[in-house]
Amino acid sequence: MKKDIVVIGTGMAGFGAASRLGQAGIRPAVYDRNDYYGGHTASFREASGFLFDLGPHISFTKDPRIQDMLASNVGQEYESLQVKLDNYWRGLRLTHPVQLHLNGLPHDLIVEIIADFVKVHDAPERPVANYEEWLVASYGRRFAELFPMQYTRKYHLTAASNMSTEWLGPRMYRPSLQELLRGALAPWQPEVHYITHFRYPKQGGFHSYLAPLPRIADIHLRHEVVAIDPKARALQFANGAAVGYDALVSSIALPALLPMIAGAPADVVDAARSLACSTCVLVNVGVDRADLSEGQITYIYDEDICFTRLSFPHLLSATNAPPGCGSIQAEVYFSDKYRPLDADPGEIVGRVIADLHRCGILREGDRILHQGARVVRYANVIFDLGRAAALATVHGYLDDIGIHYCGRYGDWGYMWTDESFISGERAAEAALSATVPARS
Ligand SMILES: Cc1cc2nc3c(=O)[nH]c(=O)nc-3n(C[C@H](O)[C@H](O)[C@H](O)COP(=O)(O)OP(=O)(O)OC[C@H]3O[C@@H](n4cnc5c(N)ncnc54)[C@H](O)[C@@H]3O)c2cc1C
Repeated sequence: MKKDIVVIGTGMAGFGAASRLGQAGIRPAVYDRNDYYGGHTASFREASGFLFDLGPHISFTKDPRIQDMLASNVGQEYESLQVKLDNYWRGLRLTHPVQLHLNGLPHDLIVEIIADFVKVHDAPERPVANYEEWLVASYGRRFAELFPMQYTRKYHLTAASNMSTEWLGPRMYRPSLQELLRGALAPWQPEVHYITHFRYPKQGGFHSYLAPLPRIADIHLRHEVVAIDPKARALQFANGAAVGYDALVSSIALPALLPMIAGAPADVVDAARSLACSTCVLVNVGVDRADLSEGQITYIYDEDICFTRLSFPHLLSATNAPPGCGSIQAEVYFSDKYRPLDADPGEIVGRVIADLHRCGILREGDRILHQGARVVRYANVIFDLGRAAALATVHGYLDDIGIHYCGRYGDWGYMWTDESFISGERAAEAALSATVPARS
């Protein structure tokens, strides 16, 4: 007999789970609280004609299986683009990553950075206790404080000294002395970034990559799970509906998931609530001019400018904006634990537009054809020093009661779309192979 496997969430993880179940001949019921499917990978075509994703989304997976699947999902109709990133720091535009492109900074500062770098470069390797120590050991204190530690406060919303390093992977490039000096002398183009090229659908935004989901699953939108009884194996929804399941795959964020589980011990619920995450207010702006930026993404270091990153959706696909127009998506970050949201989205739109003028991205005379904001409640997992122990407690409990968690907010990691999809596949695989006793 086939097991009744229920999936919660229609994002990349839910999509991965449904795909794996489809391979086993199961068409799963998938529930989502939103009135659209896709989770973070949704895209919205506004009445103004501009299209904005729910946060800038590009596909840079190196996994050929996922590349082929995504390409096929959009009928091979995708853009293949070279990534162009830059940095804004105190009025200067610096090539990314700054540690390889010091030229353009004031000469005295370059000398200080190099002198500090040489000190740490010659020091013997030693274990580091946190991200700040890793940054200082990798770049020297002057550079670490002026660039990544400042960016950390804007993006991760806590001090680098309060963060672990387990999320780093290839994200932060450690240059050799030769590379640092080369980039300090003159512009050059080393290919060291972990993303060099990416793909993006020609039509319909990133969401198009999830086009097969309604064909392989029964999607139930506006179904917010509010209670889970793991003994009776039953789900309760905010709209009054209820369903039973043999096995459950969940991509709900852990701080929201644990309090809804009947009988979850208080220490496990507390551990889940202590997990830190950022909330992102996405401010979307459409302008009557396309020459807003050369690069697709700009990182903003200055703490008196409210946004942390800017992206330009019209540079991903020409269909993202009306002809001749350009679009900007600004990310403004908050965190319940470290910097609670301090204004309503409308006020944040005003702050962003003022700061876009201060940075020179918007000019006098630009006509704003679209402005609006969307709030992404769970954005980036914050790897603070409490995360690892709390996560082990939460995952251990979910393993004990047989709830198969997945995705960025179920695994609670720094995962890209391809990794979230694979995580969903793995959770479905585990649900398929779990022994299921009769429902109580
Ligand atoms: C700002 C930003 C930019 C990013 N850029 C990129 C990028 O360029 N490239 C890339 O590969 N990745 C990017 N990512 C990462 C990517 O978004 C994630 O890896 C991926 O989308 C996570 O998918 P998911 O299914 O795990 O989570 P989600 O997409 O959040 O899906 C979870 C789903 O569960 C639903 N849900 C939650 N609670 C309930 C409930 N109680 N009842 C019912 N349904 C519920 C939600 O509505 C949602 O649909 C970015 C992330 C952010 C925040």
